[in-house]
Amino acid sequence: MVREALAEPARARTADLREERALRVLRSVMDPEIPVLSVLDLGIVRYVRSEGGRLRVGITPTYSGCPATEVIQRSIRDALVRDGMGDVLIETVLAPPWSSDWLSEEGRRKLQAFGICPPAARGSRITCPRCGSHDAQRLSEFGSTPCKAHYRCSDCLEPFDLFKCI
Ligand SMILES: [Zn+2]
Repeated sequence: MVREALAEPARARTADLREERALRVLRSVMDPEIPVLSVLDLGIVRYVRSEGGRLRVGITPTYSGCPATEVIQRSIRDALVRDGMGDVLIETVLAPPWSSDWLSEEGRRKLQAFGICPPAARGSRITCPRCGSHDAQRLSEFGSTPCKAHYRCSDCLEPFDLFKCI
């Protein structure tokens, strides 16, 4: 009886440790398009669950049709398998849809440092990542990738990408 009572928490602890370890691995899996952002910074990892011998990871694609989604899912699986996590199942979670609000605070800082204007709260103004000016004009709806728009600052005249809000 006592043994049974102890077995369950012990099993739960093992699962927790495995999930923690998986999260550490995910911290080093970078977005192929914005290599300063990890998949955790992007906020696309919905859950990491250790169930039985299997690790289930739920991923919400950022922009639908974003060609990077498949690449990201593969690099997540590869990194976990390389770390010895064994049986890894990547699950696509479509609802609720990803929102740029899910970017972590750290992710926003990294974007800014990388020269990409992070998605602002809805309705707030665009800020030039170089000089902080709010005066910018859009050059193109699409920047280097479909999830960014291309702008030029009217003050320092530097072009920059804006991570689109969705
Ligand atoms: Zn500027």
